[in-house]
Amino acid sequence: MIKDLINLIFPDLCVLCAGDLAKTEQKVCLQCDYLLPKTWFWDFHDNPLYTSLNGRVRLCHASAFLFFRKKNRVQQLLHLLKYQGDQELGVELGRRFAHHLRSTAVLQDANLLVPVPLHPSKQLLRGFNQSESIVRGISEVLDVNYDTELLRRSIANPSQTRRSRYERWENVDGIFMLSTLRPLTDTHIVLVDDVFTTGATIEACIHALKKVNIRKLSVVTLAYSE
Ligand SMILES: [Zn+2]
Repeated sequence: MIKDLINLIFPDLCVLCAGDLAKTEQKVCLQCDYLLPKTWFWDFHDNPLYTSLNGRVRLCHASAFLFFRKKNRVQQLLHLLKYQGDQELGVELGRRFAHHLRSTAVLQDANLLVPVPLHPSKQLLRGFNQSESIVRGISEVLDVNYDTELLRRSIANPSQTRRSRYERWENVDGIFMLSTLRPLTDTHIVLVDDVFTTGATIEACIHALKKVNIRKLSVVTLAYSE
């Protein structure tokens, strides 16, 4: 009741076009959502993300929700999530991605979502891990639990943005640890990250996860950088 009243005076606005949101819409209006560049990777097993990782590690499924391009709407969304701390946006985008994922049978038996961890010092500075927000939204829709403690980051790596691709590979190897050595033989783990670029970070996570016995492993990311 009070919330309805507040909404009447200060209606929620779309984060992209600043238009009023309908009662049923959250964060991004229907029209802006329609214009978001979706990859539709989840409908194609051998999609670019899957083939890019599958040569390096064996995966059950891999897909991304949106195409990330310089100055596009997806970059805007990620900026709001990462640098302006709009965690609820991450949750909502996770939900929207999960509705598409639910339509594919490949994640039907998934039973654990694991966000790619930030280094603790970075998380302390930012106050949250953006991949965790995305995981919360996916978890809600797919009704699958998540574990934010299973993977840990061990060494801080300096900002990778100005490094060459080769240097980035060198830089991330061995930076993730598992907090458990118990076998996960009955577990289909879905690793979740915000953006897929070179795949080096995800591959490093996968190597750490493969130290225990996992039944199946899949990867989903909110965005895919072309
Ligand atoms: Zn809009």
